[in-house]
Amino acid sequence: MSKIRMTTPLVEMDGDEMTRIIWRQIKTICLEPFVDLKTEYFDLGLKHRDETEDKVTLDAARRSRELGVAVKCATITPNAQRVEEYQLKKMWKSPNATIRAYLDGTVFRAPIMVSCIRPQVSAWQKPITIARHAYGDIYSASELLVDGPCRAELVLTAPDGSEKRQLVHDFAGPGVLMGMHNLDDSIASFARSCMTFALDSHQDLWFAAKDTISKTYDHRFKDIFAEIYAQEFAADFAAAGIAYFYTLIDDAVARIMRSEGGLIWACKNYDGDVMSDMLAAANGSLAMMTSVLVAPHGTTEYEAAHGTVTRHYYRHLKGEKTSTNPMATLFAWTGALKRRAELDGLTDLSAFADKLEKAALATIEAGIVTGDLKSLAQLDQVKVVDTEAFLQAVASRLD
Ligand code: NAP
Ligand code: MG
Repeated sequence: MSKIRMTTPLVEMDGDEMTRIIWRQIKTICLEPFVDLKTEYFDLGLKHRDETEDKVTLDAARRSRELGVAVKCATITPNAQRVEEYQLKKMWKSPNATIRAYLDGTVFRAPIMVSCIRPQVSAWQKPITIARHAYGDIYSASELLVDGPCRAELVLTAPDGSEKRQLVHDFAGPGVLMGMHNLDDSIASFARSCMTFALDSHQDLWFAAKDTISKTYDHRFKDIFAEIYAQEFAADFAAAGIAYFYTLIDDAVARIMRSEGGLIWACKNYDGDVMSDMLAAANGSLAMMTSVLVAPHGTTEYEAAHGTVTRHYYRHLKGEKTSTNPMATLFAWTGALKRRAELDGLTDLSAFADKLEKAALATIEAGIVTGDLKSLAQLDQVKVVDTEAFLQAVASRLD
């Protein structure tokens, strides 16, 4: 059998621990026998990040922007314990934060749905994608404890020293205070990423905030979305037969519970944090979620929504076979291959990635699952297998 050809390489970012093992298994069992894989390999494993003073992460991000498509394995974000465990030179930044800061993107997360795992919300028939703005608001706020009577004001100081003041509150007693911000540029690139993703995935786009209460701050988000939509996207949306609308966040929550899904829900930073965890919980497992970073200039980076599954890795190191779910990592690969295929006009490659996804879903629906899905899958018989056996069952459906 001749292998499916690729023309342009994609950026491959290897990672850590259990997901690094799964990465290799996916390539060996499900990809390399069928596709003549073309990738530019960057080792983002913690050891190599340390050796390169984390230069490898930025190199990978730069190259992703040039090639347009990347796939990333989960990586360790070092903390004090990891610094000791790996004898690191420094507590390096989260690779995801470095890549996001360079590519300036929005993160889209959606559940991988199978017929035998029903979402807790019975109306949901199709996946709901959360698009989370990943800049500003309470995540970079400045907060103060107020310990007694005082006047709190917002003060803007211009470069020429002139000041603008606005009263926040005259405190008569103790309380709390917070100052937060966002940037027009960041909000605009968030809007563009969401609208581009809606067009690419052919789904409606909802955006919700609280502009009735936050008449300046949230209203600015609403206005920027409206301007960008009218100036850059309205015609394309109409041609594609998809819709964009803005609504209040509480209205969006009520509507989402009654909707059948198949839409993108753009959320401000905090709303996205909360709602994506709600979505993951309602759909069962983080290992059944896809995650993709879309930059405003079109670069897309696919990854799993979960971490490096450390607890399973320690069992693997003791020689045990683990039943770690490879679905999210597998779908990161198929997502990246499909995007590459789309950009390069490779119908064989795109059809292969579709078949691989269908084979993986069919394997679970046939009752062959990893341990995490054992109690979730509503089937008469489920057979729990280790990761390798699961991937082999998927590949056997491709022959
Ligand atoms: P985690 O790796 O997502 O795992 C937490 C737990 O969730 C696991 O112990 C496991 O539960 C379950 N789980 C997650 N993925 C699974 C899968 N594919 N199959 C089966 N079960 C799965 O989160 P963590 O333990 O908090 O973090 C571990 C490391 O990952 C940390 O160093 C962190 O920095 C890193 N991390 C990286 C990313 C990223 O690169 N995107 C994201 C988050 C965390 P059981 O043990 O109960 O089976
Ligand atoms: Mg959260």
